[in-house]
Amino acid sequence: MDEMLLEERRLPLPDEKHDTPFRVSDLKQWAYCPRVVYYTHCLPDVRPTTWNMQAGREAGRRAEGREIRRSLRRYGLEEARREFRVYLASSRLGLRGIADLVLFVGPSGEEEELIPVDYKLSHKAEAHTRLQVAAYGLLLEETYGVKVRRGFLYLIPRRQAVEVRLTPPLRRKVLKTLEAMQTMLWSERMPEKTARAAQCAVCEFRRFCNDVL
Ligand code: SF4
Repeated sequence: MDEMLLEERRLPLPDEKHDTPFRVSDLKQWAYCPRVVYYTHCLPDVRPTTWNMQAGREAGRRAEGREIRRSLRRYGLEEARREFRVYLASSRLGLRGIADLVLFVGPSGEEEELIPVDYKLSHKAEAHTRLQVAAYGLLLEETYGVKVRRGFLYLIPRRQAVEVRLTPPLRRKVLKTLEAMQTMLWSERMPEKTARAAQCAVCEFRRFCNDVL
């Protein structure tokens, strides 16, 4: 019955294509170079699956398998219900994503805290990955109506959980980034090339950018 109550609290899922054009991973790409998001959305189907993307997915699945067997102490918790690969979407934010793991703290249907966890095949918690955790937090708040105060980045190579507080500046950064992405999408205007020229040398979209060296 508690499960039913929880289900009822979820908002109806929006239409993916029209209401939630962006995925949480687009926030990371935007931080890398806004043009990557432009190409992904304005030239769909051109993006190959890179080795890095595939390796990240496989590492995430392996981490999920290990997570099931381990305690919650790494998150500073005694008890919580774990749900893996939780689909979240908000037409208000124009955003959707699949959280690797959500920790539900408290009795089912009356949770006092929800905590998103994002697995990363990385040795450090970078600004753009913190942005992704915050975005999952905002999606959880909207879906379940429970304030999300923090999330975690789980760094797979180090087997370390790094806490990410959803501070007002971090929340504002997510919203401002989403606003800029919406403006780009509706205007269909290609953003400026990145100022970090070195990353163009290894960018999979380089063949589309005629103005980079
Ligand atoms: S080649 Fe450079 S400017 Fe073009 S999308 Fe890649 S990083 Fe951005």
